[in-house]
Formats: sequence, structure tokens, C-alpha cells
Amino acid sequence: MRIRVRSILTIGFGIVVGLFALATLVTIGSVSRVRNLEGNLAHFDHAKHEGHLTLSAVQKAFMHQSRMLIRGEPSDMDEYNEACRAARQRLNQLEEASRSVGVTEGAEDIRRTFDELERYFGEAVLPALGESRSEAIGYHNHLAALTEHAGTINEDLNFILEERAADVRGELESVLKLTQAATVTMLSLSVLVAVIVAVALVRFIARPVAELHRALNAIGGGTMNVHVTAGGPSELVDLAHGFNDMVSALQESRRLIAEQERRAAIGELAAGIAHELNNPLGVIRGYLKVLRKEVEGEQPNKDIDIITDEVNQCQRIVQGLLELARPQALEKQPTELVGLVREVLERLDKARAAEGPTISFTPAAPAIQATVDGQAMKRVLVNLVNNAGDAAGPGGEIDITLEESEGLFVISVSDSGAGIPADIRDDLFKPFKTTKPDGTGLGLAISDALVRAHGGRIEVADGAKGGALFRVIVPITSGAGAET
Ligand code: ADP
Repeated sequence: MRIRVRSILTIGFGIVVGLFALATLVTIGSVSRVRNLEGNLAHFDHAKHEGHLTLSAVQKAFMHQSRMLIRGEPSDMDEYNEACRAARQRLNQLEEASRSVGVTEGAEDIRRTFDELERYFGEAVLPALGESRSEAIGYHNHLAALTEHAGTINEDLNFILEERAADVRGELESVLKLTQAATVTMLSLSVLVAVIVAVALVRFIARPVAELHRALNAIGGGTMNVHVTAGGPSELVDLAHGFNDMVSALQESRRLIAEQERRAAIGELAAGIAHELNNPLGVIRGYLKVLRKEVEGEQPNKDIDIITDEVNQCQRIVQGLLELARPQALEKQPTELVGLVREVLERLDKARAAEGPTISFTPAAPAIQATVDGQAMKRVLVNLVNNAGDAAGPGGEIDITLEESEGLFVISVSDSGAGIPADIRDDLFKPFKTTKPDGTGLGLAISDALVRAHGGRIEVADGAKGGALFRVIVPITSGAGAET
């Protein structure tokens, strides 16, 4: 099975476009994945930032607690309360930010520690403000330890967040690498396929087209012996076959035109010669008559008989040449062929010697109509039957059939003679090819020209009775009216 141009283009460009589309989809998909991961990283940073802010808010509250402890009086209560409120707000934001990245423990622990710091200050430290220095140092140490604990928790939280962020960064890195590898692979593949398609186009399409182009140029330059090799997709194979057929047809029609021109030239020349010979031959015949009268009664005049025979032969040749020169002057009209054949046979029967061959005629139908020049067809038939009679000889047989099929009629004449002599078989229809002592060799040439003028042909084969078989094949309607 041969592939078509359309298939090559569709498959090739389909693969290239498909790979481009895939590369685009992969890129778009990975861009959105990268965006997600970068968003996650931003959330981690945000959570860490919130942790720092929360810790400094807690430290600020502790700072107010320390100041009040040092002063021994609740002098900073307003600032302290404000710092506590700010620290709680920060704690809420830290919890929210941690939750958004899936980490809950740290923020809750800091809250618990801050609750304890606040509770301890409110319940134990505040009522004891202004007491001894050593007790104040103990309170301060406890409050500092709680604040430090909050800082440690925040460090742990930071560590967890950093670890998770590192995982996300790793994932981001591998997504980028994978995307890069997939995009490069698919783009390289599509370039490779594009190159393969281009090579296939050049090999399977451009080359045969170039060969056709060269062949066309050669024909344009007058070289008719051109043949293109049928290769490539089926359309180009069909084109190459069509081209070769066209060249063959062109060669055949050139040959036919040359043949027709040759025949026309010979015909013209023959007609000229025949016309010029006719008059002198007439004069010779007249003088022969006079001569015969003058020597009448003296002795049997053999020489005059020989001259008369030869002059008659010359006149037959001249007559034949004239017929050969004007075979196309046909007057075609509707003619009934069965009757026409019978008429010819009756006339020949009267003219032939009694011991001549037996003639049988078998028409396929009682009547067969065709548009032909009746006189020309009779001339052809007379010639073929006379030849068959000469070949079959006394006591021989001639079979004639007439049939009609597919717009053609066929008259077959076969005989029981020895068949066509091998030495003239190839040139049978050329003028002056004869094996008979008194033959002109013009009968078949004239018949062939007349049948061709009807758009038909004469075929020769071996007949069933050992002799030759001539088949006259002519279109039933080869166009009415006179032809020139
Ligand atoms: P002619 O009859 O004057 O020779 P034709 O052109 O009619 O010219 O025939 C040419 C030659 O073809 C004949 O001389 C003969 O050798 C051969 N020929 C024609 N018809 C037959 C036939 N039926 N059987 C054998 N040979 C034939």
C-alpha cells in the first residue's frame, strides 16, 4: 500500500504540533505548580516573621513587668496592659500563620507560656511589689525563665518551619528540573520530527516533482523519448503513470500524423504520375488497335497481344494508384450491409469461372445497418474475396461472416488457401507488395486506406481452414456525409 501526500503531511505536522502542544501544557502545568510552591514558601516566611514579632511582644510585656519589679510599684500598668494586648494579638496571628502551613504545636506552647507569665505576674508578683530585694530577684528570675522558655519554643518553631520550607524548596527545585528536562526533550523531539518530515517531503515529493519537471522540459525541448519512474506517494505515482501514458499517446499520435503525412505525400505523387501516364497509355492503346487492323490476316499477332497485356497491366496500376491517392473521398450514407455483401457476391459469382471456390456467407442478423460509403465497402470486399479466391483456388472454400457488436460491424473473410506468404506478411498493406505474376500489389493498400478513412481497421490472422483470415472492423456510425 502506498502512502498519500496528505497522510505524510498530516502525520508529520500532527506529531510536531502535538509535541509543541504537550510542551506548552507541561510548561503551563509546572508554572502553576511552581507558583503554588512559591506561595507555600512565602507562608513559611510569614509564619517565621510572625514568630519573631510575637516573641518581641512577649519580651516587651516582660520588660514592663521587670520595670515594675525594680521600682516596687505598679507604675507601668497601662503600658504593661497595652503590651499584653499586643502580644495576644500577635499570638493570634502567629497561630493563624502556623495553621496555614500545617504547624500548630509551637504557637499553642508560646500562648500557654505567655498565659503563665501573665498569670504569675498578676497573681504572685503584683501583690508582692515593694517587698524585699531578694524576693524581687526570685520573681524576676521566674518571669525571665518563662520569657526565655517562650524564646526557646519560638526557636524550635523556627527550626520546624525552616525544615518544612527546605522540603518545599527541594520540591520546587525538582519541579523546575523536571519541567526543563521535559520541555527540552519535547522541543528537541519536535525539531527532530520536523527535520524527518522535511527530509521525507524532499525525498518523496520534491524529487518526483523535480523529475516530472525535468521530463516536461525535455518534452518542451522536443525530446519525446522520456519516461519518469513512478515513486513516492500514491498521488505522485498516479501522476507519473498518467504522464508516461500521455507521452506514449503523444508519441503514437506523432507517429500517426507522420504516417498520414507520408501517405498523403505518396498519394499526391502517385496521383500526379498516374494522371501523366494515363494519356500516353490511351494513345498506345489507340495505336495498338490501328496496328492490329493493319496486320490483320497476315499471321497470328503474338507481339501485339503481349504489348496489349502489358499496357492493360499498366492501366490497372495507374487506376490503382489513382484510387490509392483519393481514398478519403467518401460519400457515407445509411447502408444495409447484408444486402451489400450479397450484391458483391452475386456479381463476383457471375464473373468467376465455374470451377472457382465455394463461397459461404453467414450474416449474424437478417439486416445490419451502418453509415458507410457503399461503393468503397464493395471495393474492399471485392478485393478481399478475389484474394481469397486466388489463394483457395479451384475447389477451395471461402467463408464470409458479418456481425455487429459494441458499435462496430465486422466482416470476416477466410479461405482454405495456404495463408499469407511469410516474406510479405509484415508489409502486407504497403503498395506494390504482390506475389502474383499479374498482381499490382495495390489491392490491400487501397482497401486499408478505404477502411481507415471510415475510422476502422483491417486485422489479419490465421483462418480456421488453414488459409488467411481478414477482419474488416468499422464503426457502425463513422459520421454521415461526404469526407474529404
Ligand atoms: P495483388 O492481389 O494485386 O497481389 P493485394 O494487395 O490485394 O495485391 O495483395 C497483396 C498480396 O497479399 C498478394 O499478392 C498475396 O501474396 C497476399 N494475399 C492477399 N490476400 C491473401 C490471401 N487471402 N491468402 C494468401 N495471400 C494473400
